[in-house]
Parts: sequence; structure tokens; C-alpha cells
Amino acid sequence: MDIAHDFIADSLELDKSNIWTNISIIFTVLAVGGCFFYWSFATASYYFWFVWNKKRFFPFETVNEAELPAQMAHEKYIALASIPLMAVPMLPAALFQYRGYSKMYRSIDDYGWGYFFLSIPMFFLFTDCMVYWFHRGLHHPIFYRRLHKLHHSYRFTSPYSSHAFHPLDGFGQGIAYYVFTYIFPMHNLLFIGMFVFVNFWTISIHDQVDFGGCLVNTTGHHTIHHDQFNYNYGQYLTLWDRIGGTYKVSQQTHSMFGSTEDDAIVSGKKSI
Ligand SMILES: [Zn+2]
Ligand SMILES: [Zn+2]
Repeated sequence: MDIAHDFIADSLELDKSNIWTNISIIFTVLAVGGCFFYWSFATASYYFWFVWNKKRFFPFETVNEAELPAQMAHEKYIALASIPLMAVPMLPAALFQYRGYSKMYRSIDDYGWGYFFLSIPMFFLFTDCMVYWFHRGLHHPIFYRRLHKLHHSYRFTSPYSSHAFHPLDGFGQGIAYYVFTYIFPMHNLLFIGMFVFVNFWTISIHDQVDFGGCLVNTTGHHTIHHDQFNYNYGQYLTLWDRIGGTYKVSQQTHSMFGSTEDDAIVSGKKSI
């Protein structure tokens, strides 16, 4: 964020110390950059899995073949309308981070390479925990209907489902990444790398093509979450679902290593 901000400010010869300059640029980066990442990553994922390699990964059709085009149109509309709105409550965290109130640092020498690499698993464990409990809280009846039901309207997801949230739902799950930098030191380039990775991962757990695994939360786990609601709330790992008693073994509908007749039976596209 700080690199993008300074690049834009320098290019336009704006005063980087002016708070209104900071607010304008940071909001634009969050809103436009967020839409750009969503659109480009989700579109690349859709064409790779659902179009160019469809015969390999969906030989028996996707589970929701008939309604998929209309569903994806709805997902794109919701995501592209919500991302700029999510940027509004996210703005203070990003603004104060830029103005030096977080523990973000720019020089490796400040904490050394050992901490740099240690901060990667720390980031995943911390944010996964926050996202798990926030997501689980969203399933309480008070919040579910108002905030989270929209995302669950997609029972079998597509890459475009990944950011199709109510703005406050998306904000609540995204704020964890900023909170980390206010508690733990994090290198500014690592934060950008994690931001890109988080976007990529969020798409990957909605693309229906599962690479397997039981410690990592894959699209096979998240598809169960969309279908059966009360299992697999996690983002990256199954750790908090196991601790919280909400873990359910992944049920692959489409395997990254090629679909089989068993997959087709599981997905309801072929009878036994
Ligand atoms: Zn949910
Ligand atoms: Zn989802």
C-alpha cells in the first residue's frame, strides 16, 4: 500500500504528507486495485479450469451447469459493487498504517531475515484464527440473514463467488490482515505479497477443483461449507475447525488430478 501510494503521489506530484492526498489515493487503491485483482484473478481461474481445461476437470459437467452463467453474472455484479463499499470501513486501518501507526517496517535490518520468515506462518495462523471466529459468528441467526446469506446463495461456487459478499461481511473477513500489522511487525513487501496471495487463495477455495489435503482448507472443504453451512469455516487451514469441532472431511466434486466416475456419482451427475 505504501509503495503504491508513494508511486501515485510522486507521479502526480502530490504532497505525500497531506492527509486528504493519503485518503484519496488509499481509497482509490483499495477500490480500484481490489476490483482489478478480483476480476483478473477470477477470470484467469474461470478460463483455466472451466473453459480451456473443462474436458479434463469437468468431464461430467459442473454440478450447476444450467444455472452457472446467470449465477456468475450475479456474482460479478455483487463483488464489483461491494469491493468499493468494503474500502470505506477499511480505509482508516490502511490510512493509519501508511501514516506509521502500525508495526509495518521497510528495512530487513530492523528485525532480520529470521523474523521475516517467521512472520509468514505467524500471519497465516493469526489471520486464519480471526477469520474462523468471525465467519463462525456470521452464521449466528442475528447476523446470517443480514450479512452472510448473500454469499451462501451460491451453493456450488465459481471463481467469481470468491469476493461476492455483503460489504460488511467482506470487511470483517479482510480487516484481519490489517489487524496483524498493528500487533506484529511485518515487512511492507511481505504485506503486499500476502495481500496478493490472500486474493488468490480466496478464489482457489471457490473454484471447485480440489487438490486434496487434510491440513489445508481446500475448495473441497469450502464447497461443503457452502452446501451444508455449519462445517469448515476456515480460510487456509483446517486447524481451527478441528479445534472448534466444525471440521468435515473434504468431499471432492472435481479433482485437480482428473475427475473419475466416483466424482461424478458424488456430484450427482451420474447414478450408481
Ligand atoms: Zn459461511
Ligand atoms: Zn465462500
